[in-house]
Amino acid sequence: MPDSQWVEVAPEVFVRAYDHLQLNITVVRGCDDLLLVDSRSSPTEGIELKTDLAEFLPAQVRMLVNTHAHFDHTFGNQSFGSDPIEGVPIYGHHRLPAHLDSYERPRLAAWRADGGGEPDRDWDDLRITPPNRLVASSQTVRVGGRTVLLHPLGPGHTDTDLVLHVPDARAWIVGDVVEASGPPMFGSGCFPLELPNQLGSLLADLDETDIVVPGHGPVVDRAFVASQLAEVERFAQQLRLAHRSGDSVERVLADHDRWPFPAEGLELAVRRAFAHLDTAESDPPVIPAHTPPRRT
Ligand SMILES: [Zn+2]
Repeated sequence: MPDSQWVEVAPEVFVRAYDHLQLNITVVRGCDDLLLVDSRSSPTEGIELKTDLAEFLPAQVRMLVNTHAHFDHTFGNQSFGSDPIEGVPIYGHHRLPAHLDSYERPRLAAWRADGGGEPDRDWDDLRITPPNRLVASSQTVRVGGRTVLLHPLGPGHTDTDLVLHVPDARAWIVGDVVEASGPPMFGSGCFPLELPNQLGSLLADLDETDIVVPGHGPVVDRAFVASQLAEVERFAQQLRLAHRSGDSVERVLADHDRWPFPAEGLELAVRRAFAHLDTAESDPPVIPAHTPPRRT
């Protein structure tokens, strides 16, 4: 299936959905400047993205923002930010470099050893390129006179999630905090028990008419985020109950039909949640972790 073309989802906010991993790349244009969100999953894809952008818009990428550390959003970074002269600043959550060290570097080492299931790719050319503008609290950046807000979030999908708000376009670019291409995704470094709080904090800032660009899948709205929050709240509660009743990780996985998400996405979530609960001094009460202030 060919990649889609750039689509203007809000005024001067463009999204292109790439077929590989169904990844959304977003650009915000202010005058002749571009703010690019995420860089795809390899140096080759990063260069392809650069070419696609140059053909589409007569504007310069002035900055790159990573929504989180996972490889599909950061392994193209070197194509934009590594050159000391021509490279652009890369913004990311302040915990992102540590996550790269803990999860993405070992992932890359494993791929180099076995091809990562994609033997056609040359992983030798990849130099992991962390952000050089680390964001520890909400801040504003300007792109061609336009204001974009960067909000680092607490742990949930990962501990490196950062969402962008473009107020004049009523647009939010949220990476994988919201999953619209399938069930919520529990990947490396996830915090399943804290995801409801993370998603709830995003929901609290959304207005009814805002659009939300997820990392994968179609553009959604506040109502979608509210329903996903309810889903992950139920899941977190189910995890706590299973742990409290003495279920083992293996027993949960063997009985995956009673769980809301497919087995392949479930394993990491259960392992991470149970490890967290094993080390917690005492289980928190079994109540929804977050009550959205304006549930639709
Ligand atoms: Zn992703």
